[in-house]
Amino acid sequence: MSTPSDDVAHSATTPIIEDDQGQQVNVKSLFHCPVCKVFLQDPLFLPCGKTICRRCLPNTHLRTNITYPDTQDRARGFDCPTEGCDAEHALADCNPDVTVGKLLDAVREVITSDSDDNSSSHDETLEQEKIKEAARPELDCHVCYQLFYHPVTTVCGHTFCVSCLQRAVDHAPYCPVCRKPLSCQPQNNPYSIPGSKLLSTLLDSSLFKDEVEARMEMLAAEASGNTDSKCTTPIFVCTAAFPTIHTPLMIFEPRYRLMLRRALEGSRQFGMVLPSRHRPEGFEEVGTMLYIERVQFYPDGRSRIQTTGTMRFKIVEHDILDDYIVANIQPMNDISLAEEEALEARETADVTVEINTTNGAAEGESLVAQGENGEQQSNDETDKGPTTPEDIDRMPTRDLLAYAKNFAQEILAQGYLRVDPNVLGDIEGNHQEDPVLFPWYFASLFPLEDSNKQRLLCAVSVRERLKICCKIILTWETGRLRPW
Ligand SMILES: [Zn+2]
Ligand SMILES: [Zn+2]
Ligand SMILES: [Zn+2]
Ligand SMILES: [Zn+2]
Repeated sequence: MSTPSDDVAHSATTPIIEDDQGQQVNVKSLFHCPVCKVFLQDPLFLPCGKTICRRCLPNTHLRTNITYPDTQDRARGFDCPTEGCDAEHALADCNPDVTVGKLLDAVREVITSDSDDNSSSHDETLEQEKIKEAARPELDCHVCYQLFYHPVTTVCGHTFCVSCLQRAVDHAPYCPVCRKPLSCQPQNNPYSIPGSKLLSTLLDSSLFKDEVEARMEMLAAEASGNTDSKCTTPIFVCTAAFPTIHTPLMIFEPRYRLMLRRALEGSRQFGMVLPSRHRPEGFEEVGTMLYIERVQFYPDGRSRIQTTGTMRFKIVEHDILDDYIVANIQPMNDISLAEEEALEARETADVTVEINTTNGAAEGESLVAQGENGEQQSNDETDKGPTTPEDIDRMPTRDLLAYAKNFAQEILAQGYLRVDPNVLGDIEGNHQEDPVLFPWYFASLFPLEDSNKQRLLCAVSVRERLKICCKIILTWETGRLRPW
């Protein structure tokens, strides 16, 4: 597998570069389609990170047992035609690769003109330099305007450094270049956006090695900043906060007043975690970053702040700074959309008993898969929801949302609970319909125990969080014990 001359044949007259495994790769072969093996044409980016020609896309088929995300463009898929990838890709995940397209345009002339040149006086170094020169302008990130560092490619085909994209979507899940919605996914999991194999091999090659190394050193220096500690994120141990949801806070303790002042001078963000009686540190490991929207200062030194949850994080290590906690954090990521779909397909595959959710699921948009197979289930018999946690485990993701949403609407209609305008005021509508946002809405609307709030924060898939919501509802329904 890893002997240098294994799979890449090269002639003596073409530049050779070293890929990340130290293998000798012909630089021109990087721009070849892994399916048809000729210079890429109309490049299409696949979710496994490979780039193929549009014409090399195989026939598609209907995907089954997937109700989330419930979009028509995810209903069709194909078996990946590239070597070493056995995955079924959703057609929606395969998009024109904008960055590679421009790169191909830039190097096409150098590569195709030189390939006709069979003279023995062929200068490899010169050719290598030419390719490098042509390719370099296309390898800048549109956020930091520097050479890509760990490039990832979005669904709209644009490429960014992973850290740049993560920072950009922290607040709004739109592509920084074309403003297309990146689905809700990057907010949950920026790393589910694949890195481009072509770009990373090119960047790791000897052509750009020096520049990448210099970039790496610079980033390391930036990260360590003026302190030796990696613990730079201020942590507020207080309450549960959730992504996209508002958390109003009254700050009065002197140490948190200092923390607030520092946050306002910087990124306007801090981390929020729940206190914990079970952990030696006294607080939970997973929390949510809060962005400070508004501050109101009072003459007595207190402040009232309005915040919005951004990303979830996990504390890697922590320290104390002026009496409050500072931590080195990592983003808490969901599994990828493809894994999410595979999870649902697996869990719902052999359902023999149709579980009927209340009318919401029936009147909802029917999935293309069902319509085309003529297998539309009738929901007209009993109006009975799941009765055991095992029922919930086997329910399609769409039905989980419908069950939990109907319950929430019913309770709101009965007037037992009210929507807190400071928490959910301007965001209620979206959050009821969106499977990604619903659990955060649910956790803010209902008086959940802290342990359940923490379980929601720690879950790493949309399906898992919806199941947690549904199981909580089930215990309320069957035990008739409602905490309100
Ligand atoms: Zn091809
Ligand atoms: Zn693939
Ligand atoms: Zn960047
Ligand atoms: Zn874009």
